[in-house]
Order: sequence, then C-alpha cells, then structure tokens
Amino acid sequence: MEPLYRLESVGKRYGEKEVLAIPALEIREGSFHFLTGPNGSGKTTLLSILAFLLRPTSGALFYAGMRVEWEGKTLVALRRQVTLLHQSPYLFDGTVFHNVAYGLKVRGIDGAAGKERIDKALKMVGLEGFGDRRARALSGGEMQRVALARALVLAPRALLLDEPLANVDRESAEVIRGVIVGLPARGTTVIMATHDPGRAGGQGDERIRLEAGRICRVTSGCVEGERR
Ligand code: ADP
Ligand code: MG
Repeated sequence: MEPLYRLESVGKRYGEKEVLAIPALEIREGSFHFLTGPNGSGKTTLLSILAFLLRPTSGALFYAGMRVEWEGKTLVALRRQVTLLHQSPYLFDGTVFHNVAYGLKVRGIDGAAGKERIDKALKMVGLEGFGDRRARALSGGEMQRVALARALVLAPRALLLDEPLANVDRESAEVIRGVIVGLPARGTTVIMATHDPGRAGGQGDERIRLEAGRICRVTSGCVEGERR
C-alpha cells in the first residue's frame, strides 16, 4: 500500500546552513511515530514540511501517492487534511467554544452540526462543559487541551504534534497522551515530536530520531531502551 508520506532526498537550507537532509522516509497511514532528537535537530522543520507549511529547498515530498507541488489550490486542499499542533498554541481572546469552532467555520460547518462535533471534541479532551469559559483564562494544560480539541474537531487525516506536553501539567499530559494514542486505531496518522517518548506510546509505535537534520535511526515497535 502507498504510504501516507514519502520523502525523497528532502533537504532544507537556511542560507548556507543545511538544517534537514533526509534521503528517504516513509510514513504509513494510521501509524504512530515519535520524532525525537536534541534541540535544533530539525524536528519542527520536518513537522512544518509534513504540514505543508514549509517548502523544502530540495527533493520531493509525496502525500497519498501524489507529489506535493507547493502552490495554488492543491496546497490549500492539502493543508486542510493535516493539522499541526504547536508547543504553545495560539488561542483567540474569546470562549473555548469559539476557539474550537474556528477551523470548522472556515470549512463551512457551523450550527447544530458544528456544535455536536465541538461538544464531542471537548469531551474527548476532558473539557466537557468548558465551552463558555474564556480560553485565555485557562491553565496552560487546559489551553493545550483546547488546542487539541480544535485539531480533533477537524478530523485530520494526519495529526502532527510539536512537543505538545512540554508546558503542561501532569493531568493534562495524561489526557493528551490518552487521546492521541487512540487515534491510529481510527485511521489517523500521528507524528509527535517529543523529548520524552518514555511510556507515552503503545504497541507498535515507531520512532524517528534526528540529529543535526539527519535521521540517525528509525525503529519500529520499540518502547523501551532508547539511548540518549
Ligand atoms: P528542533 O525543533 O528539533 O529544535 P528546528 O527544526 O526548530 O529544530 O531547527 C533546526 C535548525 O534550523 C536549527 O539550527 C535552527 O536554528 C534552524 N532554523 C530554524 N528555523 C530557522 C529560520 N527561520 N532561519 C534560520 N535558521 C532556522
Ligand atoms: Mg522544535
């Protein structure tokens, strides 16, 4: 079967500096990948490319069997299939409900159909009944859960997460982990950059380790024993 993502000699440079150089990488649809590596190793750069937000300077990215052309309407359509959750997500000054509703509205989904999806997403992240709360008055962990709900409500084909647990309390981290490890069973591809893959994964999770923009290891089905 065609992988969801296939990278061929993908490179990214800033001026003279090469920050990413990946000869080949495939991401199966419905898989769960941890993306690890020290600060500055290229994790955010790779996620931004996979979210179609950053164009590589060389090489080819294939998504669902099609080569990404990095322009025009096809790019807009691709960006709607994949959601990137940032480490410190931006929430609007408004209610939790409005924040989660935003992406749906852009896609023309509102009213009762929208509300049902929003309520379901808030329930998934343990924020049932938080709809009328002011998003920016929440704790860091709760805000990250709102951002996760905002991503989930869009039912993305791939959910990319950039160190989502870095700034959250333990309870929120547990909730967030619990939700995302369940997504591949529903067909969603998950790629999560993290410093601590530890016990976060489930059976069959895979790991990509970057060092200085290069993949130094891809392992499959391994949970214990990563060397740092
Ligand atoms: P990580 O997420 O693993 O910490 P990044 O992908 O953010 O790594 O960064 C990889 C490298 O690219 C770093 O050396 C960083 O300084 C560099 N870099 C990232 N963005 C830019 C930019 N806009 N301009 C110049 N260098 C950048
Ligand atoms: Mg980063």
